[in-house]
Amino acid sequence: MVHESGGSLTRVELAELLDVTRTTAAALVSDLSALNLILEHDADPTGRRGRPTTNISPHPEGPVVLAAEVANDRITVAEVAIGGQLKNRKDVKLESGDPAEAVDQLDQVLHERRANLASNCAGIGVAMHGLVDDDSGLVVQAPNLGWENVPLGRRLRQSHRLPVKVDNDATLGALVEAKRGAGRLARTMLYLRSTVGIGGGLVFDGTPAPSRRGWHGEFGHLPFGDTRHRCRCGAHGCWENAINQLALAAAAGIEADPVEANAAADDVLNRAKAGDAEANNAVARICGILGRGLGSLINALDPEVIVLSGHVQRLYETDPATTVDALMSASMRAHRQSLPPVRSGVVEHPALAGAAEAILTDLIDSPTRLLAPN
Ligand SMILES: [Zn+2]
Repeated sequence: MVHESGGSLTRVELAELLDVTRTTAAALVSDLSALNLILEHDADPTGRRGRPTTNISPHPEGPVVLAAEVANDRITVAEVAIGGQLKNRKDVKLESGDPAEAVDQLDQVLHERRANLASNCAGIGVAMHGLVDDDSGLVVQAPNLGWENVPLGRRLRQSHRLPVKVDNDATLGALVEAKRGAGRLARTMLYLRSTVGIGGGLVFDGTPAPSRRGWHGEFGHLPFGDTRHRCRCGAHGCWENAINQLALAAAAGIEADPVEANAAADDVLNRAKAGDAEANNAVARICGILGRGLGSLINALDPEVIVLSGHVQRLYETDPATTVDALMSASMRAHRQSLPPVRSGVVEHPALAGAAEAILTDLIDSPTRLLAPN
C-alpha cells in the first residue's frame, strides 16, 4: 500500500486500506521496518493538540531495483525504490549494432551502476522493444535492433546473481499503469503504448493476462489497416502502419523518412492544435482508424478502462471527439450504453518504471524470502 500510494500513509489509513485491525497494522509496520522497506516517522507538526500521528514512508535506505530500457540507439538506466520514483536516469549511446557486443555493454553499464549504489540491489528489470519469452528472458525478436534469440535474461542472471526480469516494453508499461497509474483500482485495464510500433497488454487485478509465451498484447498487428500493405512483422494490414507517426505525416501530405517520423508527426499535431485545417483533417482521418480499432478491442476484451501512452495518447488528446465517434460506431450496441473511459497514461517513462515494477512486485509479495532482517 505504501508503494502503490507512492508517498506516505498513516498507520490508521494503512489499517483501513488493508482492512485489518490497528494491532495487525502495527505488527506489519514493525516487521517491514526491520527489513528496511518502510520507515515510520513523526507526521509534520500541525500545531493541533491530541495524539501525535506517525507517517509510514518508503525507507530512504531501502532496497533499490536497477531498471534498463534498450531502444534503437541507446540504453537508458535508472534506479527505482519502493514508492516507484525513478532516480539517476541516464541515457548511454548503444555502441554496437552487434547483439553480443550490445549485451556486453548493457552488462557493464549495470555493473558500474551497482558499484555506486548506496543501498542493496534487489534485482534488475529490462524493457525490450520486441518479443520476449517472459519466463526465461530470451529476446526472441527485436526487429528495430536486429536481435533474434538473444538469451539476455540468462546472461544477466549469471553475471549479477540477482533476480532478473526481461520483458516487452509495452507489457511492462501496462503493469505499472495498472499498479500505480491511470488503471489503478480497475480490475481489467486495456493498455496501448506506441513508440515505433504499437504494443500493449490486458492487465487483470494487477497481473498481465497470461498467454502461452507472454507474446500477447501485440495489438498493433491486428488487421485494422490496409490489407494490401505488408508489415515488417510479416502480416498484412497491420493497424500500427495505418496510425503510426509515418501514417499521420503521410495523411498530411508529408513524405517523411522513418528517422524523421516523430518530428513530422509532432509538427502535424502542433499545427492541428493551432487550428490548421489540413492538419486537422489528417489527424481526424488517423483518429478514425484509431477509434475503430479501439471499438473492436472493446468488443473482444470488455475492459473496465482503456489507458493510452505515447503517440496514440497524443492522437487521442488532439481529437477525442473523432476518436470516440469511431469507437462508438465500431462497438456493439450493448457496449455503447456504458463505454469504458479512455485515459492518458500518467506514469513517466512507463517502460523503465514497469521494468522495475516487475522486480518490486516479487519483492513486495515475499520480502522475507528476498531480504534478510536487519
Ligand atoms: Zn505487423
